[in-house]
Amino acid sequence: MNYRAGRHFLQIPGPTNVPDRVLRAIDFPTMDHRGPDFAELGKAVIAGMKEVFKTTAEVVIYPASGTGAWEAALVNALSPGDAVLMYETGHFATLWQKLATRLGLAPDFLPGDWRSGADPRKIEERLRADPQHRIKAVCVVHNETSTGVVSRIAEVRKAIDAAKHPALLMVDTISSLASIDYRHDEWGVDVTVAGSQKGLMLPPGLSFNAISGKALDAAKSAKLPRSYWAWDDMLASGKSGYFPYTPATNLLYGLREALEMLREEGLDKVFARHARHAEATRCAVRAWGLEVLATNPAEFSGSLTAVLVPAGVNADQVRKLILDHFDMSLGTGLGKLAGKVFRIGHLGYFNDLMLIGTLAGCEMGLELAGVPVKKDGVQAAMSYLASCARTPARQAA
Ligand SMILES: *Cc1c(COP(=O)(O)O)cnc(C)c1O
Repeated sequence: MNYRAGRHFLQIPGPTNVPDRVLRAIDFPTMDHRGPDFAELGKAVIAGMKEVFKTTAEVVIYPASGTGAWEAALVNALSPGDAVLMYETGHFATLWQKLATRLGLAPDFLPGDWRSGADPRKIEERLRADPQHRIKAVCVVHNETSTGVVSRIAEVRKAIDAAKHPALLMVDTISSLASIDYRHDEWGVDVTVAGSQKGLMLPPGLSFNAISGKALDAAKSAKLPRSYWAWDDMLASGKSGYFPYTPATNLLYGLREALEMLREEGLDKVFARHARHAEATRCAVRAWGLEVLATNPAEFSGSLTAVLVPAGVNADQVRKLILDHFDMSLGTGLGKLAGKVFRIGHLGYFNDLMLIGTLAGCEMGLELAGVPVKKDGVQAAMSYLASCARTPARQAA
């Protein structure tokens, strides 16, 4: 590997930059996970995660990537052959649907255009057409990381209620939790899925389920086989701050620190910061004369922005030039968006000048790739950020 001075810009939409405070917290001797000191850590991180999920319901933590928590949600609450209504918002929704199929569930996959979020009206319509209640769960990705589009979960809840349908609501918040406002209890979500390496500012390796009372009831009669992912074992040990098997102890030290940082900043300010960086990024994209993939302003993501490149340009070639010359990683186009978009991650441990550096790298890379863009993008983002700094009300929005 070539020597590179300075800090790499890791601007993919997860894993995200890990703060030094979190790295220092992880760098501590591993302790006995069955010893007396562990319980305090176990209880603190569960309580902290409840604040972030905005829930008083149960939370479990797995030593696994987000995919594990997807599987946990399904195997605990559902039975072989159950119909599940899933929504094709993009690549990650498609992967969750494939996972459900492999587990022996029967997904009904509502088609989407990969530029907009889950349509609550279509979900309501499909549920109304299921008077026998064969559909046992509705699964939606809150922030679709392949497209930079946010689905309106509160409206999905209303759609389920309007159809008077008893299906569980399961939501993937892997790239939205601690970046975009999310409310497990208020929005009536039954299982929320999350991961450590995006808004939570940790390395990969932890994932989470927040579980409603209704989902716990469903788990009592659900018949899919489960062992590693079993909620009941996790919750039985969790009451006293322990885990049924060896947890990722050092990542839990990091989680405790990350939760403390979120508390110090305040979740509302965390969300406002992400929204500000997302808007500044869109200012740059517009000034370049390029197009943001997301079409509906009510669904723009605070976590990342997917940028469409002009026909005839390979977005991965732009990314490669940026990596080679400016030491910055950007997100690739996933699935059917391969080569058509690059994704700018602006989530997690991030500030105004890191964003300006990120956008400068993009602007120089577009120029190197010969993409005909106007060179006003960084300036537009700077003007927006400066205007936010001048206007306290805009700083909070
Ligand atoms: C990153 C991500 C996943 C996959 O998580 P892994 O930790 O890679 O298993 C799933 N869903 C969304 C929305 C994601 O952003």
